[in-house]
Amino acid sequence: MAQNNESEFGYILDNIKEITENVNEARVKYGSGEVQIMAVTKTVPFEKVNFAVEHGLTLLGENRVQEYLSKKDSYDKRAEVQFIGHLQTNKVKYIADSVTVIQSVDSLKLAQEIDKQAKKAGRSMDIFIEINIGNELSKSGVSADSLTELACGIAELENVRIKGLMAIPPVGADEKVFEKMHMLFEDLKGKNIDKADLRTLSMGMSGDYVTAIKHGSNLIRIGTKLFGARNY
Ligand SMILES: *Cc1c(COP(=O)(O)O)cnc(C)c1O
Repeated sequence: MAQNNESEFGYILDNIKEITENVNEARVKYGSGEVQIMAVTKTVPFEKVNFAVEHGLTLLGENRVQEYLSKKDSYDKRAEVQFIGHLQTNKVKYIADSVTVIQSVDSLKLAQEIDKQAKKAGRSMDIFIEINIGNELSKSGVSADSLTELACGIAELENVRIKGLMAIPPVGADEKVFEKMHMLFEDLKGKNIDKADLRTLSMGMSGDYVTAIKHGSNLIRIGTKLFGARNY
């Protein structure tokens, strides 16, 4: 079985090697510290996800609550799961006891529901605020202008901790967009918002992770470049 996977999923190993090399090269070039590589699992069967976990990519990113719930019990127990997709308030309860971070918080209403469900689960939840950095109508995320107000509102909640920012720069976006996100991150850190502990800038996907690292990202989220093209 393990041997079957080794040959059938060998391309994943090649991809991990290539991504890791590129990340290390970028870190040296741009003087970055540690950069976490997240495996984005949407549409990927759990066997492939577990293969990536076995080979060192223990951080998983989930987009869809339903899909996550159908796979989570099959995941390798070494995996750490963070939620990165658009999240409806009525679905928070399904993930509040099992994910370590919700990266896609873009409203006070959502943060309040996370606070409530985290309390029920007897824990606190780490969250990132998602910024709609390209001001795209089709994308979720709070506008850059509303970031400080939202962060201050969330800081009032007892069972939620702001630990980072997340963004999906538009495809082909100018590097200025990445740098703007970097500045927002540094600015917010400088504001020393109560109880916030801003450590992670989650930015960069298959097509732009090197650019993202250049502009301060320390968590990149990789799907296609790792598991291959999604067919949906
Ligand atoms: C799908 C997805 C990714 C990964 O995208 P790829 O281009 O396949 O690497 C990263 N972040 C989020 C929020 C996603 O939905």
